[in-house]
Amino acid sequence: MVVGVHRPTQLVIDRQALRENIQAEVNRLDDGCELFMVVKANGYGHGAVQVAQAAKDAGASGFCVAILDEALELRAAGFNEPILILGVTAPADAPLMAREKISATVAATDWLIDADRYLALAKEGQPLRVHLGLDTGMGRIGFRTPTSLQAGIDFMGSNADHFLFEGIFTHFSTADDPDDTYFKKQLANWQKLVGSLTKRPRYVHVSNSATSLWHAACNDNLVRFGVAGYGLNPSGTAIAEPYRLQPAMSLTSELVHCKELQPGDSVSYGATYTAQQAEWVGTVPIGYADGYERRLQGFHVLVDGQACEIIGRVCMDQLMVRLPKEYHRGTKVTLVGQDGDATISLQDIADYCGTIHYEIACGFTSRLPRYYL
Ligand code: PLP
Repeated sequence: MVVGVHRPTQLVIDRQALRENIQAEVNRLDDGCELFMVVKANGYGHGAVQVAQAAKDAGASGFCVAILDEALELRAAGFNEPILILGVTAPADAPLMAREKISATVAATDWLIDADRYLALAKEGQPLRVHLGLDTGMGRIGFRTPTSLQAGIDFMGSNADHFLFEGIFTHFSTADDPDDTYFKKQLANWQKLVGSLTKRPRYVHVSNSATSLWHAACNDNLVRFGVAGYGLNPSGTAIAEPYRLQPAMSLTSELVHCKELQPGDSVSYGATYTAQQAEWVGTVPIGYADGYERRLQGFHVLVDGQACEIIGRVCMDQLMVRLPKEYHRGTKVTLVGQDGDATISLQDIADYCGTIHYEIACGFTSRLPRYYL
């Protein structure tokens, strides 16, 4: 997809906000505990390479991504720090990961057996770094019993020229929930599985943002810090942040057209909105092809510090807003961020759409240019 640099619609990313959020967390960590910034999905829509650099400047010592291509993007950009792929990668890519010193998440012994064949053929001369994933209740990927875990460890031990047992981790499904009943159950499962280890690997980790913010006692020696680094509360609004998180992403545009409607005039596809009185309407060049969802009909943007309702359907590339008066073409429109005393947060958009801010942030498409402050 082309990047729309000739259109006045853009995401603006505040790197100082990123740095301050991450530094605040680094400062809270116990001695010996590291922070890997999670920059998967193009840094939650903020730009993986730019976020990685801001995170490194703020004290992050490594990165987590979801897929191998995201790890390779960081290596190509010159990052030599540890990178952990959180998802399951194809065993055939084990030699590539070994060569690039990219750590793989391994969720089952049969994966190791398959990868072993590729590593034997490729003769990379260095082992694949492995973090064993434990499924303690997330129900997604990972070893679930001490016996299966031991089998994986034993296999790596007897193929030590191919595998380096570098880490072990789990992922909590309810760390952002004020009710910690299920969290405690998962923690107990984790402690049981990790307690069965005869030797701890270099990295032992359980914490995403929510866990590190609200359950720091179980951080062990690594935190996988994601959404809070971007300035977003992992719980939405359910639990107060322990320190001020500064949202790093804004989305702005301009009015490209302004007109006065007369009573009875309709707006956009399906003619779902009809003016009841004379009113001014502005057109904003953004739509659902940019990730600004069609469900946002009836929501609002900020013009001149005032909330202006989105009237009629959101189109693929344009939407219309009701204005309190005539405004010039070129007037600034804020879709995410602050204008005067008014703010629209990603959380506000997520609430309106019935989803979470994560989905909104990483849903903005590559047609939107990202500019960095
Ligand atoms: N760890 C794992 C395994 C994840 O899947 C994720 C994100 O989905 C994270 C850490 C980061 O989570 P958060 O963005 O909530 O900090």
